[in-house]
Amino acid sequence: MSKAILVIAEQRGGALRQVTLEALHAAQRIKNEGDAVCVAALGQHIGWLGEALAPYGCQSIQLVDHAELEHYNPEAYFTALKPLLQELQPRAVLLGHTAIGRDLAPMLAAHLNAGQISDIIAIEHSDNGGGDIRFTRPIYAGKAFETLHFTAGTAAAEPVVVTIRPNNLPPAEPVEPQQPDAPTPSVVSIDFTPAPSLRTVVKDVVRKTSGKVDLTEAKIIVSGGRGVKSAEGFQPLEQLAEVLGAAIGASRGACDAGYCDYALQIGQTGKVVTPELYIACGISGAIQHLAGMSQSRVIVAINKDPDAPIFQVADYGIVGDLFEVVPLLTEEFKKA
Ligand code: FAD
Repeated sequence: MSKAILVIAEQRGGALRQVTLEALHAAQRIKNEGDAVCVAALGQHIGWLGEALAPYGCQSIQLVDHAELEHYNPEAYFTALKPLLQELQPRAVLLGHTAIGRDLAPMLAAHLNAGQISDIIAIEHSDNGGGDIRFTRPIYAGKAFETLHFTAGTAAAEPVVVTIRPNNLPPAEPVEPQQPDAPTPSVVSIDFTPAPSLRTVVKDVVRKTSGKVDLTEAKIIVSGGRGVKSAEGFQPLEQLAEVLGAAIGASRGACDAGYCDYALQIGQTGKVVTPELYIACGISGAIQHLAGMSQSRVIVAINKDPDAPIFQVADYGIVGDLFEVVPLLTEEFKKA
């Protein structure tokens, strides 16, 4: 039976977040023939999202545009999504494993009485004919992987809620409008009346980082640990990041020492990142730090201690003083 696969889109600062395209890719992978991929987007002044999402092969784009939804508010977002879930009765709901997705997904799963699979990094054995779909996710702080599955088409196993770790699945590709199977999505505006009893209201959001590149979606991260020794010690890393178009990250050691803001912390109790390239400077490689970055495609470690555990996960290791090595790398990359 044809059903809906619902993707909850995320946007920030007038741009669609990359993880939404990755969720759209996941939707195409798990859908059965005849299923409709629907996207829901919430926010304020988000009419542009209709056009931005249209090329990605979805059948409908549901926009909930309201001042109360300008900033993420769990209660307001949940209230706004409930009628949509009721109407679509989705087989699966897909979200990014982001701050918003992690908060919203369990609420949606509880409401739908659905199973939830979180933080997936791969989808296997999927076909479009209703076969078994397997989701892989890291466990034990990235030391092992587990594969979970629900049996597509089995009513007892549906619906499911799935969150997708950013930067692991490929993004959905735009479908050329002239392709015969290119759907023309309907863009639907959904009314939202916030309940007068909303218990929380977001007045303002103060961003702690002015970083040009979002840490969780960055392709390259230059990260500093206690080895940078001071807030000023991050400057060579920032110069390297500037040349590479990278985001800056940090270990908790650097954050605890006051060298940088906790918004930059990567690890078990910080952000989980999966960039193409992770350059760890003056970071020892504690298990809690590895939990947040060990899935990076290529890891480069710069540490003056040859026995630092970070070298065990690094693809390339440079034993040396970061204050000598990092400026040299910056100069070399400038030439490239
Ligand atoms: P250190 O361990 O002090 O390492 C500094 C490194 O810099 C050393 O290897 C040293 O050789 C090198 N160094 C020094 N000077 C130079 C130089 N000039 N050039 C090159 N190298 C140099 N940590 C996280 O990162 N993220 C988390 O989310 C996190 N969560 C935690 C949760 C819990 C419950 C606990 C208990 C701990 C958590 N930690 C976390 C802390 C973690 O255990 C480590 O203490 C922390 O990661 C250490 O940070 P560091 O590597 O920067 O510092």
